Amino acid sequence: MNINTKIETKKEACKIDENTVSINGRGPFCEHPRKENCWIYNGRMPTSNCWVTVVGEYVEISNVKVHNPAERRSGQGSEMVADIRRAFPTHWIWVDTWNCSRGFWKKMKQRGKIDIIANDYPWPCINTTCKVCHSNRIVPARRHFE
Ligand SMILES: [Zn+2]
Repeated sequence: MNINTKIETKKEACKIDENTVSINGRGPFCEHPRKENCWIYNGRMPTSNCWVTVVGEYVEISNVKVHNPAERRSGQGSEMVADIRRAFPTHWIWVDTWNCSRGFWKKMKQRGKIDIIANDYPWPCINTTCKVCHSNRIVPARRHFE
């Protein structure tokens, strides 16, 4: 990868460079180009990133992405959520969660890394190949909502 490609990639990951900030030593957070009050947390790039929407005392985490499927179950996501907690130690951190990531978020809540799982209804993810969210099988409810 030559230096120009590197710069382009960096711009792509963090579109509004001058608005990059760190919060309590965590960062960079890049202002989302279109969503109000929304910041893209790139402190764990290229492994993972996510969005945080900050409104008053509340911080919503959304769009959590661990980019390499091989690293999905190795704690990368939870490390990133821990970063968000360190950045916002006194805020209420909340999420809406898909059926397939509810287990992860329940763990995060138990460990005090987030405060609230907002949705108490089933919410299938957008990935139609996801077996947890888009299975026709009858799955015992406790697997998802215990
Ligand atoms: Zn799913």
